[in-house]
Amino acid sequence: MSNIFRNIPSVNELLESEPLKQLAARANRTVVVGGVREFLDKMRKEVTAAAAEVPTPGELAQRIAEWIDQTEQPALRPAINATGILLHTGLGRSPLAPAARAAVDSISTGYASVEIDLPSGKRSQRMDVVARTLRQLTDCEACAVVNNNAGATLIVLAAVAAGKEVIVSRGQLVEIGGSFRLPEVMQYGNVRLREVGTTNKTRAADYEQAIGEETAALLRVHPSNYVIRGFTESASLEDLVALGHKHDLPVIDDIGSGALWDFSRYGIDDEPMVKDSLKQGADLVLFSGDKLLGGPQCGIILGRKMWIDRVRRHPLARALRVDKMTLAALHATLKLYLDPEQAEQQIPLLRLLATPIENLRHRAEHLAPQLAATSSISAAEVVDDTAYLGGGSVPTQALPTVCIALTPAFGSVDHLASRLRDAVPAVMGRVKRERLLIDLRTVFAEQDGDILAALTSLGGNESPAEPSPGE
Ligand SMILES: *Cc1c(COP(=O)(O)O)cnc(C)c1O
Repeated sequence: MSNIFRNIPSVNELLESEPLKQLAARANRTVVVGGVREFLDKMRKEVTAAAAEVPTPGELAQRIAEWIDQTEQPALRPAINATGILLHTGLGRSPLAPAARAAVDSISTGYASVEIDLPSGKRSQRMDVVARTLRQLTDCEACAVVNNNAGATLIVLAAVAAGKEVIVSRGQLVEIGGSFRLPEVMQYGNVRLREVGTTNKTRAADYEQAIGEETAALLRVHPSNYVIRGFTESASLEDLVALGHKHDLPVIDDIGSGALWDFSRYGIDDEPMVKDSLKQGADLVLFSGDKLLGGPQCGIILGRKMWIDRVRRHPLARALRVDKMTLAALHATLKLYLDPEQAEQQIPLLRLLATPIENLRHRAEHLAPQLAATSSISAAEVVDDTAYLGGGSVPTQALPTVCIALTPAFGSVDHLASRLRDAVPAVMGRVKRERLLIDLRTVFAEQDGDILAALTSLGGNESPAEPSPGE
């Protein structure tokens, strides 16, 4: 065994090798020295465990250089979303509009009037940056902005109902995105959950019977990611508002996606609109900033001033506070909605939704033969398929789309998918029946060339890279 180890060159010898000298000149010497040590440590363990061979010094230097290069790539990097899921949480949900990026640019590299009212020079509340625009768009009385909609739900429950009971329909006790489970959020908000009705049917009378001394609010949750079919019934928001106000209880409406206008124009039905919820009398309306709104991650709370004031004063407001970049991006995104035409042209999510299917087909027919001509692909077929909103939003809502179905020239479809994820920018498709689908519904037209470049860069049939330590 010790003989084998004697064959391993020293760190200094390796650093003198051509590939690592070149890497150190390009990257940072500390990073390269650390990387060489880390690689050698792992290799010694592997050699011991598997009685493996030590590569020749030249081969070893080359492998270490490639490994350092790969591990030093930022884990967070741009990706092309060809999955067909518009609000893919794993890919950061909605991309930002150019105006939002410009706003972030202009306030993030210097100081900014985050909590200063410039005319008076007095201290202001950071959430007020977006208050005026939210009022213009929704006629809300007051607003608060927190880190995300899960946070909005938590702080609203804690501010309105801590130590008391909130009534929710059993059909609305949702889990969204695997980690947001309404019953658990209620527990952390120190709120007791009072379930009423059954999974498929809940009537206003069920809520009324449950109202008692301990009741602090009525909560409605939009079941964003599922539908119950068949014999179903739920109390309308108007009914809940009438009931709540009769008993002096606030009605909280978690509408999830926050559509600022009617999304049925894009073939998405049954998405509650922010304005409607307020108009129908909900006291507090909650939604995400990075779902249908197409802005940065945040949770927006609109409603009556007396309740919003309680939310703003709650200690959790500090813990869930948004930063200046979020506020800048949100404000710029909201401003675009004041001119619907501008919003549709500039907000990436709306642009993707509004693209006519013929455009997608035209692009697919142009791109498919080019992809098929690359050496890693044996066939590229244009196929009709279904895209989804995603992001905990309406996967039941099918959107028509056109895909390019790729058959790899060699290796498995998973291997092809993995090599495309390694490209710069990463290309994420979806595997269906042994083919990799490139769904153009979620790809911006200007990225078609990048997809071709990524496939071209994969080259021909080479044996897959040998697994290196750390994998
Ligand atoms: C998505 C969603 C949430 C969670 O929102 P985040 O912004 O992801 O925290 C909560 N409630 C509903 C109804 C949702 O659709």
